[in-house]
Amino acid sequence: MNVETVPTNSLAEITVDLAAITSNVQQLSATVGPDVAMMSIVKADGYGHGMLESARAARDGGADWLGVATLDEALELRRRGDSGPILCWLNPPDADFAPAISAGIDVTASGVWQLEQIATVSEAVNTRARVQLKVDTGLSRNGAPESEWPALFAAAAALHERGTIEVTGIWSHLACADQPEHPVNDQQESAFRRACELAAGAGLSNLIRHLANSAAALWRPSSRFDLVRCGISTYGLSPDPETQTTAALGLTPAMTVSSVVINAKDLPAGAGISYGHTFVAERDLHVALIPMGYGDGIPRHASNRAQVLINGERALVRGRICMDQFVVETPTARIGDRVTILGPGTRGEPTADEWAHWCDTINYEIVTRIGGRAQRQIRSQAQEGS
Ligand SMILES: *Cc1c(COP(=O)(O)O)cnc(C)c1O
Repeated sequence: MNVETVPTNSLAEITVDLAAITSNVQQLSATVGPDVAMMSIVKADGYGHGMLESARAARDGGADWLGVATLDEALELRRRGDSGPILCWLNPPDADFAPAISAGIDVTASGVWQLEQIATVSEAVNTRARVQLKVDTGLSRNGAPESEWPALFAAAAALHERGTIEVTGIWSHLACADQPEHPVNDQQESAFRRACELAAGAGLSNLIRHLANSAAALWRPSSRFDLVRCGISTYGLSPDPETQTTAALGLTPAMTVSSVVINAKDLPAGAGISYGHTFVAERDLHVALIPMGYGDGIPRHASNRAQVLINGERALVRGRICMDQFVVETPTARIGDRVTILGPGTRGEPTADEWAHWCDTINYEIVTRIGGRAQRQIRSQAQEGS
């Protein structure tokens, strides 16, 4: 099926501006400078923007690498024609590494046990796996703890020496990058430097060293090493709008979510709205029904809090957001009027940052979870109108 086809009965659209993604990658590359490689992170369906299209737009902007979480995401990129460097890092315990190794994808080993798994498959498929070593420097998620670094590096160096695998990189991930002054960043950077020195001492040379996500890439130059892994910023959102806004960063949000008013009516004072009547009209009012709900990624937490844009005016969500629909108060809306749920904010519409605020979460979660039945429209260049 052509992904750009929009069924005529579509109730909501997610419009993705690929030119924005391309220019964001260029902007981020300019920020980190020519000596630092750019990995654009396109996991989780490109943070809700479409993995394949986002990947192509990022490559157009000069992304040297693509990063994804899973083996399947990486393989999908390869199958759909991306022939450049790709890294993935989240493997099931019984992972089948063979297809990824054969496809020349960089896989990640978070311990000696995983390195041995990868090496066994390398021998079986008679292909030198490209392997990056993940070290835990303080996030306490994946990666080898410091006590295991000597064993990991010794094993990796031996397998590399023997030609079974090619160790291409060493990396880690920060816990507090969105608070650039947090002392944990210094501790993790020091730990990462220790790991890199230890790896070099074990005979692993020319490794690509990387630690920084978007926040660190933007706000902690000391964390950039050889490559930065930019996710949220690729899509034009700030990793922490309180530290620096999207506009101040020179980024352009790539996603716009829009829908249509499918019913509109006057309600008398005293009318309760939506499940549980958590909103009761204190006076006569006019409302509109929007056909999106938590089944499409509109968070229920935004009940009675969020806003949308209709006819150039903000309209407030009244009552609970349901699975498929929600009600907003609006003096003017008529059936058929277009509704902007979120977007770059340039026409007065709410931004992903505002939705995040209304829902006590982060912009990452807002854009990544939008979807459900909404049809995605991919635009290769900015177009007028919604
Ligand atoms: C998702 C992810 C990133 C990207 O983080 P952003 O904050 O979106 O830039 C980088 N590295 C790893 C390991 C990740 O899982």
